[in-house]
Amino acid sequence: MSFNENAGLDTSQVSSGGGRGKMVIGGGAGLVILVLGLVFGVDTSGLLGSSDPSEPSGASTIGARCRTGADANRDVECRVVGTVNSVQAFWAQALPTYGTEYSPAQTVLYSGQTASACGTASNAVGPFYCPTDKQVYIDASFFDELTSRYGADDGALAQEYVVAHEYGHHIQDELGLLGAAQNDRQGADSGSVRVELMADCLAGVWAHGASTTTDRAGRTLLKPLTAQDIDSALSAAAAVGDDRIQQKAQGRVDPESWTHGSAAQRQTWFTTGYRTGNLKACNTLDAATL
Ligand SMILES: [Zn+2]
Repeated sequence: MSFNENAGLDTSQVSSGGGRGKMVIGGGAGLVILVLGLVFGVDTSGLLGSSDPSEPSGASTIGARCRTGADANRDVECRVVGTVNSVQAFWAQALPTYGTEYSPAQTVLYSGQTASACGTASNAVGPFYCPTDKQVYIDASFFDELTSRYGADDGALAQEYVVAHEYGHHIQDELGLLGAAQNDRQGADSGSVRVELMADCLAGVWAHGASTTTDRAGRTLLKPLTAQDIDSALSAAAAVGDDRIQQKAQGRVDPESWTHGSAAQRQTWFTTGYRTGNLKACNTLDAATL
């Protein structure tokens, strides 16, 4: 119930997967494409294969289904639309105060798999931001996995955090900060971990200002966040911590192969963004401790 029922959704910011033409790039040739996911490492060349995109999914009906905040409260794909609206409205206002104009980024909502300029998007990869085409890719069925496989709670802000994290990567792209992940991809102190924790912090910065964002008619999109909402976001941030995932998958924790940071670190940086509402508090690249 996090959206104001009467708020209007702008589905033009979200397109449906499939039928976007083949921009699939195969493996080999030493070409490594930077992909910034929520869960997996930036080097997903082994995951992003070159298979054919599926047909457009039910996501193609979002224009008809997702009209109001009430729709966003009841339908997970409409909630993605509403969250994209809120996150982009937030950064369009906030980013210029730091001296950078905000360029809108489309979210591709797909089901199954779809082509991206970074390779084939599928649930094996999870949600990600592709810097090559500057789009966010989300299969809403991931949110089921977020609770059933990763153990996050099923609150709306857990899902909204995922969207805001991926837009955090878009903000980093706008600010020219993604190189740190490109060049240093693994390890507890790696550029990748620092970039991912910054995206968590930027998601927190959005959460801080989320209830001030409005639709095109000036109606407030989201209700003020409750302590329970924040708990949901924190449960998601912890659920996708590298230590949590490694412990479950292999029964041990291997910081040398971390790409996103620990559960505690992901919670800490989300909280830093949420408490301060300040992009400058998110400078993980220069932080002495993560
Ligand atoms: Zn990420």
